[in-house]
Amino acid sequence: MTDVTPRGLHHVTAIATDPQSNVDFYTQALGLRLVKQTVNFDAPDSYHLYYGDEHGSPASLLTFFAWPGVQRGRQGAGMSTATAFSVPGSSLGWWHDRFTALGVTTEAPQTRGAEDVLTFRDPDGIVIDLVASDGDHRSGWDGVADIPAEHAVRGLHAITLSERQLDPSATMLTELLGMSVTGEEGDRARFAMGGGRSGALVDVFSGVKDRGLQAGGTVHHVAFRAPDLDTMTLWQQELSSRGVSVTQILDRQYFKSIYFREPGGVLFEIATDAPGFAIDEPLLELGRHLKLPPWLEPSRDQIAAALPPLDVP
Ligand code: ZN
Repeated sequence: MTDVTPRGLHHVTAIATDPQSNVDFYTQALGLRLVKQTVNFDAPDSYHLYYGDEHGSPASLLTFFAWPGVQRGRQGAGMSTATAFSVPGSSLGWWHDRFTALGVTTEAPQTRGAEDVLTFRDPDGIVIDLVASDGDHRSGWDGVADIPAEHAVRGLHAITLSERQLDPSATMLTELLGMSVTGEEGDRARFAMGGGRSGALVDVFSGVKDRGLQAGGTVHHVAFRAPDLDTMTLWQQELSSRGVSVTQILDRQYFKSIYFREPGGVLFEIATDAPGFAIDEPLLELGRHLKLPPWLEPSRDQIAAALPPLDVP
């Protein structure tokens, strides 16, 4: 039997309504790097925008399908309802002041379990947490002039799954995906991959009654890291043999992927670390130009003409 044990979070993908305000918010307000400007490979008439650290490293990535005109979704059970990034321990007050000055909807920093958390919403209402984490030594992206490197976002910290019941999801996380329970407080349980560092944490918030509606302003899926394609191929077979309905391996150009649903309904993806975002443009130019996979390149003119113009930093 093969152990299916991801090494951490790979990315989170959510649904935005307006690509320009999405780019402006995540690059200018939060200070992430736009590392790829491409289209949704399954629906190439809309953008797929990737944000992360300088390289677009796995576990730094938040990505968006931008669907202008999409209805507004609703948070609820069967969804990933919060995405947490880590920042240095002393930075929460600085971020709170920054968001207040920028008019970003934000709450006062609060303590949740052993962590200090600042919660805010993006222009579509997506919930993002900044978590003070002194043990995170990733460098983040220091390419935004008014965000000092000492305060920059380091990368993904944790996701929060909202569920009706804890047990079915917990069973998949522990027995199938090799995570360990590291804490439980009230309706919130924490699961960790490996040693449970920043970027390898899953919180499950249970007892949520109403199901969510996946549309604008909600998370579409969450992805976990596979070290390489051979390992993921074994995991795909293992998941299938244990009765999980899992897709074939799909080519996402910057990684290879499989998808399946956890029992509460959240769409999970497992994605390879390689080849990464420098496969089709130099590191210095990541995100500046519309990139298409080889199979869509023959249709570039029609695809580009159908997309709204985008000013990138
Ligand atoms: Zn994905």
